[in-house]
Amino acid sequence: MKLDPTISNYAKEHAKEFNLFRRAILRYDRIAIFRHIKPDSDALGCQFGLQTFIKDNFPNKEVRVLGDHHVTLTPRVFPNADKLSESWFDEPFLAIVLDVGDHERIADPRYKKASYICKVDHHPFKKEIARHPINDEKMAAASELLSNILLSWKGTTLSKEAARYLYMGIVGDSGRFEFSSTSAHTFAVAKALIETGININSIYLEMYEKKIEDLRTVAYILSHFEVSPHGVAYYVLSDETQKELGISREQGKENVNLFSNIAGLNAWCSVTEDPQPKDYCWRVSIRSKKLDISGIASKWEGGGHPQASGAKVRSLDKLPELIKNLDELFI
Ligand code: AMP
Repeated sequence: MKLDPTISNYAKEHAKEFNLFRRAILRYDRIAIFRHIKPDSDALGCQFGLQTFIKDNFPNKEVRVLGDHHVTLTPRVFPNADKLSESWFDEPFLAIVLDVGDHERIADPRYKKASYICKVDHHPFKKEIARHPINDEKMAAASELLSNILLSWKGTTLSKEAARYLYMGIVGDSGRFEFSSTSAHTFAVAKALIETGININSIYLEMYEKKIEDLRTVAYILSHFEVSPHGVAYYVLSDETQKELGISREQGKENVNLFSNIAGLNAWCSVTEDPQPKDYCWRVSIRSKKLDISGIASKWEGGGHPQASGAKVRSLDKLPELIKNLDELFI
């Protein structure tokens, strides 16, 4: 396949890091791929895209995928992760950490036992865990960056199955090519992935399929949301309400984009109670039309991207303060 210059020029500019990454893959026969906790389509897409690519091109390597499940995406759209015993990690292996900047959010701490760690990501990071990381915050998705690395790897092929996973990652994190992080590079990579023969119609059907019962959740949200003076919309789903609606916390959160594209709204948030005893909190998923909300998310035990970030409040009494912080951005 002849590569679009947008892809090949980027690969040339980053040839040194890309080669170190590829050499690490060639050097190890046992590879474990890690993602962030509470995975989304990008975390899952780049992980399974890379696993499939390595298996297709280097069938003698053992490649494992680690991390917690997603309530609707696994195993419906992406396979379940592997369950590995402690002894697996006693032999030398390569850890590849994908789509996670904050090392505390890596879904399985056993990446620390690796002989060598690689990382491919598009998040801001606090502490670097890899010697030669490949990081680019301008990429709409980690899957976009990884696709460039794999597409420009001479002598290998990117199968339709690997391309399908990577495409789903890009679609997920770019909001179906809508967020401002979407660039000419995003489209060049998407074109190359489509040229492998993937069926994008069935991809969208699988990724965004909803059940009739989900409409009850939408009805609840639309009759209970609030809007701050300067256009921050938010809705709150307590654990009790989630149970009444028969949904998980993640399913509640996934409706946050009901409020995108509404005139007069500058940002919108879902606030969902997460009752797990070890980290009891109300998780706030924040999305913004234009301004960067990631600084406010960082102030509230979170982080993320300029237009899509996550934060936490430890009690609902604190929520008005977080909403006020957001509201003041838009005065
Ligand atoms: P979410 O609202 O959970 O879909 O997350 C949106 C973006 O913010 C994703 O890129 C997450 O990786 C990031 N994010 C969510 N929660 C946190 C957190 N507590 N700390 C750092 N980043 C987060």
